[in-house]
Amino acid sequence: MSASTINGYAALAKQTELTQFSYEPAKLTDYDVEIEISHCGICHSDLHLIDNDWGVSKYPLVPGHEIVGNIIQVCEKSHHTIGSRVGVGWQRSACLECDECISGNEQLCLKQQATCKGNYGGFANRIIVDGRFAFVIPESLSSETAAPLLCAGATVFSPLQHFNVRPGQKVGVIGIGGLGHLAIQFAHFMGCEVTAFSSSADKETESKKFGADHFVNLSNNNLRKLRRSQDFLLNTSMSENQDWHALLQTLKSDGRLCIVGAPSKPINLSLHHILDGRRSISGSNIGSRTDIQKMLNFAALHNIKPQTEVIPISRVNDAIAKLRQNKVRYRIVLQMK
Ligand code: NAP
Ligand code: ZN
Repeated sequence: MSASTINGYAALAKQTELTQFSYEPAKLTDYDVEIEISHCGICHSDLHLIDNDWGVSKYPLVPGHEIVGNIIQVCEKSHHTIGSRVGVGWQRSACLECDECISGNEQLCLKQQATCKGNYGGFANRIIVDGRFAFVIPESLSSETAAPLLCAGATVFSPLQHFNVRPGQKVGVIGIGGLGHLAIQFAHFMGCEVTAFSSSADKETESKKFGADHFVNLSNNNLRKLRRSQDFLLNTSMSENQDWHALLQTLKSDGRLCIVGAPSKPINLSLHHILDGRRSISGSNIGSRTDIQKMLNFAALHNIKPQTEVIPISRVNDAIAKLRQNKVRYRIVLQMK
């Protein structure tokens, strides 16, 4: 094992526990930076990848794309300096030349590379990425706080901005997990009236603490009384088995359901309630570099923080088991040392 060896945890096959795994990284080129990782959040996308829910996983698979650490090496073209504390999310590079990249939508670039899909990710002591996708963390955010913002925070902040959600609008957040509990906070501080839609009755008190004005228990609620009440719904749940028709009917006319949760199975949806009410359904994928920078600044300004549970990386399998059971409140962050 050389001094450059990177040590982490990998799934060696679908739906297995992670085991210790080491690899030799490629040499740094152009804009690359090497980061000594201090913290890495566990996103449900990591679990989808471990289980090959989306049919795209390759093993060994080192998950992890909510990374915070310090730069220990920079290549010649990088603007970063050694010692800077930076974060990396789902995306580790893009061509930065295509129409999408030039218009500031690098997350839609056809040549984008993911941090832990097709590359070894952040459940490790170090990582090398294109430094143009490493973001300096505002000083007021602790590393454990910043880590979940890099994916979960960006993914919910971006559509609220892109779809022009305004103060005073009624925003529903469906699924109160890692993404959802941050979505409540962002929408609250954007001046919206927020409703949390959850299948877990015990999340009511905390949802209200995060800034939700109302709480709807999806397990026993008749959504009919909420008909035509919401301007914007953000679905962060990965369940394909929602009452989509009743949820769509809670939207006002011209309202939008934006889906960021990534179910592995198709959803069963009649288009009737889109036509009726002139509603829209959209998807959204992570966030652009501008979104990430704005989101970090917005979080620092309003003291928006994920509720985290910090666990040493040696206990990564306990953490993943808890995530599988929907028992995490609300993000586990792995500590590397
Ligand atoms: P999470 O922390 O596990 O939270 C997901 C929430 O969904 C749960 O807390 C739960 O909320 C609800 N849920 C409903 N059915 C569930 C089930 N069968 N198992 C577990 N939870 C269930 O996950 P997350 O990290 O927030 O990620 C949520 C989804 O977003 C995942 O599918 C992930 O892959 C996706 N994602 C997408 C993007 C993107 O760019 N579009 C980025 C990041 C993540 P209640 O208890 O309140 O019902
Ligand atoms: Zn993620």
